[in-house]
Amino acid sequence: MSYPQHHLLQNPPVDLTQLSLAEWDEFFGLLKLSSKSKLCVYEAVFHHEISDVGGIPGLDDSEIDILQRLVIIRRSREHELRRSLDGSYRLTIELHDGHLAETVIIPEWQDGELRKCSASISSQIGCFFGCSFCATGRMGFHRNLSASELLDQIRIAESVIRRELKTDLTHLYFMGMGEPMHNYRSVSDALTVMRGDAAPGPPPSHITISTVGLFRQIRMLAVDHPEVRLAVSIHSADQDTRYQIMPVSSRLGLPEIRDALVYHKRQTGLSPTIQYLMMDGVNDSPDDARNLARYLGDLSANITLIMFNQVTEAQQNRSEQEKTDRFINELEQASFPVDIRWCYGEDIEAGCGQLKVCSREDRISMSMRHEQQTGEPL
Ligand code: SF4
Repeated sequence: MSYPQHHLLQNPPVDLTQLSLAEWDEFFGLLKLSSKSKLCVYEAVFHHEISDVGGIPGLDDSEIDILQRLVIIRRSREHELRRSLDGSYRLTIELHDGHLAETVIIPEWQDGELRKCSASISSQIGCFFGCSFCATGRMGFHRNLSASELLDQIRIAESVIRRELKTDLTHLYFMGMGEPMHNYRSVSDALTVMRGDAAPGPPPSHITISTVGLFRQIRMLAVDHPEVRLAVSIHSADQDTRYQIMPVSSRLGLPEIRDALVYHKRQTGLSPTIQYLMMDGVNDSPDDARNLARYLGDLSANITLIMFNQVTEAQQNRSEQEKTDRFINELEQASFPVDIRWCYGEDIEAGCGQLKVCSREDRISMSMRHEQQTGEPL
């Protein structure tokens, strides 16, 4: 059988794990497989972890023959798992090209019962935006993850959770390395696939996408995935201060972000979470709190204050408890519900803002610190 000239068929074999959903339709349109066979391949790639074309159930011999000549399926794999003193895990996943993506797994217990088990996954290798408090930003941007790589990451996290904790993944956060909205196509495709019954991941209402405020994508998410939750990192309601800690905010005006939040709330009925990293002397005064309350105004939002993790190269420090208490008091007086997020996994550098793919030297110093604290090797 001959195929039309097409960019997707220029350099076979085509790696099916690197196609977007739009390319997927285009590609299988060219191959002229029946809809039933297309569905078998789709399920094998996106819902399961089949990596051998010959092992895809439901295809006849001629279809397997065509696919074996034209496609491959390259999977990610578990590379390393480290457990923190607080019970969280840092899972490193190796992508097909050797890049490493970090996933953080956090089990939460209450009265001896496992109440919640969440995973925070990476959407990019490195990040383009260079926030001053964030180790990932210091890596620079390397590449986006494809939808299939995001789903592999979730599937591997699920199997680690079952193996180590004998439970299921209950909540999923796109809050690991990278800015998920800067890789909107893959994230949106993965969310679309996750609507399928046999797909990995928790239900959409237990999924949260975090962003530094990419307002165009916030509006797109509201339309494409209205059931998925949104968390926006504001960190300061003063444009100049925000610019000092998040250089990308020169292109992301606070008024435009607020307009997008109002739009998202109207479209979805969901209140956004406003994430606010408490940094000593930078954004933690009572004036900063009042400024944040004024900025949010009548927008119904939940505020999560994040307790800063020390990143080796960062200039900032965690806010003192007294300042944090005053900050919370101001927000509560303005009737905003406030949560505190204590970061997990600090000893294995899996806490908020600490994720990066470590150099050998980083690994050695991390393992020495862990050994000093526990008397055991990491
Ligand atoms: S905080 Fe998020 S957006 Fe900023 S550099 Fe880190 S990963 Fe990128």
